[in-house]
Amino acid sequence: MAATWPPPSRPADVLIGVLALQGGFAAHRRILRALGADVREVRVPTDLDGLDGLVIPGGESTTMTLGIEREQLAEPLRELAARGTPVLGTCAGMIMLDRDHLGLMDVKARRNAFGRQVRSFEADLDFAGLDGPPLRAVFIRAPWIDSHGDGVQILAELEGHPVAARQGSLLAVAFHPELGQDTRLHGAFLREVDQAGAGAATARSRRR
Ligand code: GLN
Repeated sequence: MAATWPPPSRPADVLIGVLALQGGFAAHRRILRALGADVREVRVPTDLDGLDGLVIPGGESTTMTLGIEREQLAEPLRELAARGTPVLGTCAGMIMLDRDHLGLMDVKARRNAFGRQVRSFEADLDFAGLDGPPLRAVFIRAPWIDSHGDGVQILAELEGHPVAARQGSLLAVAFHPELGQDTRLHGAFLREVDQAGAGAATARSRRR
């Protein structure tokens, strides 16, 4: 059975990295800080040291891929995720997580799936695990998930296409939760980070 998502616990002090090579990292930083997290912009591999969670923002996935290659960040990002550190990818960040890019999630994202500029729009999403009213989501030249493996849980759909998914502690959404007033998604992510950290601390103390 899938674990309860998001975890019910309360977010503690956590350090969240925001990949800041390109794209909408500043708005993520602002929301995460408003929710009480410490935030570090990530531009080179050593910026990943000691992070409790990471956000890969929206932007332009081709440019972001080039930046990741230039800074040799792909392997360190894979290692971070392999340690169980929660990662949230939004829009281009979802694309970066897919099979054809960093290969962290067993999903295939279709770029500009709703069309290009013409299809920047807002929609109300029923989002699994988020209490309260539907989530008002901003889509900007957004991808959707074309296909996914069995280990992937779809959290929201639009027009019959998955636009939010999780796999373990990796979370991908096709829209821009950092634009607008609703902080529930970042809040859920921070609770996930908090729980992952508590798990790691317990495992560490057991090893002692
Ligand atoms: N269309 C962009 C891409 O393919 C993603 C758009 C976004 O992140 N807002 O990279």
